[in-house]
Amino acid sequence: MNEQTKFPFRAETRLIGLAFPAIRALLVHEAQEHGLELPENSDARVMMVSEYGHLTFDALENGVHACVMADQTDKLFILKESLVESIEHFAPQLAESLTWSDAAQHKGHPPNFQLATVTAVTPIGKSFLRVTLSAQDLSSYAQNAIHFRIILPPKGDQAPQWPRLNDKGVTIWPKGDKALHRPVYTIRSVDTHRNELVFDVFVHEGGRTTEWAQNVTIGTQIGITGPGGGGIPDTQAITIYADETAFPATARLLEALPHSVGGRVVLQAGTQDYPLPDHPNLKVIWHSPHSDQTLPDVAIADRTSFPEHMLWFASEKEDTQKMRAFCKSQDIDVKNHYIATYWSRT
Ligand SMILES: Cc1cc2nc3c(=O)[nH]c(=O)nc-3n(C[C@H](O)[C@H](O)[C@H](O)COP(=O)(O)OP(=O)(O)OC[C@H]3O[C@@H](n4cnc5c(N)ncnc54)[C@H](O)[C@@H]3O)c2cc1C
Repeated sequence: MNEQTKFPFRAETRLIGLAFPAIRALLVHEAQEHGLELPENSDARVMMVSEYGHLTFDALENGVHACVMADQTDKLFILKESLVESIEHFAPQLAESLTWSDAAQHKGHPPNFQLATVTAVTPIGKSFLRVTLSAQDLSSYAQNAIHFRIILPPKGDQAPQWPRLNDKGVTIWPKGDKALHRPVYTIRSVDTHRNELVFDVFVHEGGRTTEWAQNVTIGTQIGITGPGGGGIPDTQAITIYADETAFPATARLLEALPHSVGGRVVLQAGTQDYPLPDHPNLKVIWHSPHSDQTLPDVAIADRTSFPEHMLWFASEKEDTQKMRAFCKSQDIDVKNHYIATYWSRT
């Protein structure tokens, strides 16, 4: 199958003034961080393969030509958005001024954005609040991608501004007093017939989403974007390490991994009451956050016993940095580990 048939949706843009080595360095970093492949990586061209499609970057005399390709329009949009977000960090003006070749096809809200209504909030054990949302069309959420973003208006804002596409096809997010809070959550379950989505909020000190979930009234409207990211690993053996923020994702894995998959699940939590689906060959072990051993210490010590297992690790930033350094030092193939920062202390 050629690229055109495999990825019928594509969009291009020119990143004028951007030095090719800068984008190449960014892609190499992203590939290492997220375990992505770079089938081409030269002074003139870099190609990156992600779960959403392909991105290619060609050096121009005055900048870089970028092309994104996907098999679905929502995946194409995710690729475009992630590219713009990455560029925003080191060239914010360029990010706002770039023009996508398919800009004329999209108007209004970004295609992966929709409004959703809160229909229930229920405590789950002592540390979680389960939120149910109802939306217009959640058909695209019936995939392996297990995460999404909730889009919360500023506290007390009765007339929020939602994101819109400008005439160049770039999403404009409101700024200043109107800035929206956009944390990532895991889709605990989705009912595409009823268009209902459930997610679990870990209740923690100082969390804006915690405060929102504790006080929200039924019928409140918020935004959501997604789905995106994560996915269910294709493996026969796995060791999973998670703190509370990754319990919903762990539950998705336990539900989706075939019963033939073996391994263990180490969960770090003060209270051990988060409901997890049973899996006959994945043994759950609870790890106290007050133990002398941190979660990465446990994962590193375990590695000698399970060298062939896929390593799945999601937790706080310092923990994931330690795990990434360990995997690098041991030359563990990026395809054989998923290490994700779910939150950051700073
Ligand atoms: C792929 C992915 C999936 C995720 N899935 C879930 C999920 O299903 N459920 C869930 O609860 N979280 C999940 N998270 C984590 C969640 O996005 C973060 O905890 C986020 O910071 C929550 O936003 P907030 O509005 O509550 O806090 P913010 O307003 O962003 O942060 C406020 C303060 O809270 C602190 N903080 C943030 N998280 C924690 C924590 N866990 N413990 C202690 N302090 C914290 C921050 O350091 C900051 O000081 C996920 C993250 C990722 C990347």
